[in-house]
Amino acid sequence: MERKKWFLPADLILLGAIVIAAVLCFVLTRRADSASAAQIRVNGEIVETIRLRDLTETETRTVGGCVIAVGPEGARFLEADCPDRICVQSGLLDRPGRTAACVPNGVTVAILGESDLDAISY
Ligand SMILES: [Zn+2]
Repeated sequence: MERKKWFLPADLILLGAIVIAAVLCFVLTRRADSASAAQIRVNGEIVETIRLRDLTETETRTVGGCVIAVGPEGARFLEADCPDRICVQSGLLDRPGRTAACVPNGVTVAILGESDLDAISY
């Protein structure tokens, strides 16, 4: 019975370590998965990369006939002078890898994750 006494704290520490590791893993994965920046391109050229974390409220950018709203939660085409308005219908882009394009205007908006930003910060 005396051995059991000594085992318990060790078991708790191990359990605690597993829980902490799991939480860390979850937090890190979520952070990597959250939208970090919106990148606006015109005809393939990067016009602006906006860090969403730096934004406190939604801002707009007018690029090539398109009005793009960028806020802490993501980015979206707000208005566009194109005939199809597929870009506006794309709605909110809130995850890394999400993109919307206004083909007639050659404007694309892409959401980058934290890992993408590390790759482009030179
Ligand atoms: Zn459009």
